[in-house]
Amino acid sequence: RAKERGRGRWEIFEPELNERAQRRMSDETALGAAIARQEFLLHYQPVVDLRTGAVTGFEALVRWQSPERGLVPPDQFIPLAEETGLINVLGRWVLEEACRQGRLWQLALGDPTLQVAVNVSARQFQQVDLVEQVATVLRTTGLPPASLLLEITETAVMGDPAKAAATMRRLAAHGVRFALDDFGQGYSSLGHLKRFPIDVVKIDKEFVDGLTRNASDAQIVQAVLTMAQALGLEVTAEGIEDHAQLDRLRTLGCNHGQGYLLSRPLPAAAATALLTARTPLPCPPPDPAGQVR
Ligand code: C2E
Ligand code: MG
Ligand code: MG
Ligand code: MG
Repeated sequence: RAKERGRGRWEIFEPELNERAQRRMSDETALGAAIARQEFLLHYQPVVDLRTGAVTGFEALVRWQSPERGLVPPDQFIPLAEETGLINVLGRWVLEEACRQGRLWQLALGDPTLQVAVNVSARQFQQVDLVEQVATVLRTTGLPPASLLLEITETAVMGDPAKAAATMRRLAAHGVRFALDDFGQGYSSLGHLKRFPIDVVKIDKEFVDGLTRNASDAQIVQAVLTMAQALGLEVTAEGIEDHAQLDRLRTLGCNHGQGYLLSRPLPAAAATALLTARTPLPCPPPDPAGQVR
């Protein structure tokens, strides 16, 4: 009977499995072709000094401008790029493009301290020539190493913590800085932080969401801020969407933030306009009476 059931299942599942394998293969081909055709672009989300509203840097976020599918967000192609190894080619392009753009902004503003953050996934981080790649890109673009912030997640480093720490130290020796992205999503052991040369902790959006709604999230954020201060780390809160969250973060002493309230990720030209206008973020809310100020 078990055998019968098994055979029955096989008949049901085989075509589905095939379909999935075929879809994956065609997705992989499409992604490879998109890379060859250079259909990717970067959007830039401002990182804001919450005390002054000034833009202190941008996080580069990749998008696929597909002729068939329109603007495709990274969650829909980064995992496949990661699985297939295509992330290495794509990631190298992202790094170079972000550094090039960052240097242009620095020169336009006369501000060499403007930061450029680039996300680096687990597989990218394991590339044997990563350090050399980063050094080359910094040299060719002229971006000061201290202006580059590499964002990695706990899960990316915890596969082989000793090796990850060694790679990070080699990059840090070049002057590059590190942010621990999505903090709170992974192991979140404070002890782990000490073994990596981390400069910035990015508090995951989930905790920012809960900040004004439940006491435990507020306590977690408070604890991260206290710990960061003790370790001499900067903290950036991710995903700030309303004024209540912003006020609370300011009160807690969180100095940097990102989120739709401050600005969505922007195309390069819009980011340039925002920078040159030097308008503090968040822009004042529209006058309730609808009158021109
Ligand atoms: P992440 O690095 O944690 O980036 C933050 C994500 O949250 C971005 O989504 C951003 O647009 C979004 N976000 C920012 N503020 C808010 C907010 O207030 N509310 C909400 N709901 N969302 C907000 P995005 O651009 O879709 O990127 C998703 C993830 O894809 C990134 O998460 C990162 O892990 C990955 N990713 C993006 N670009 C790259 C890249 O160039 N290389 C690699 N390896 N991964 C990338
Ligand atoms: Mg990030
Ligand atoms: Mg994040
Ligand atoms: Mg994320």
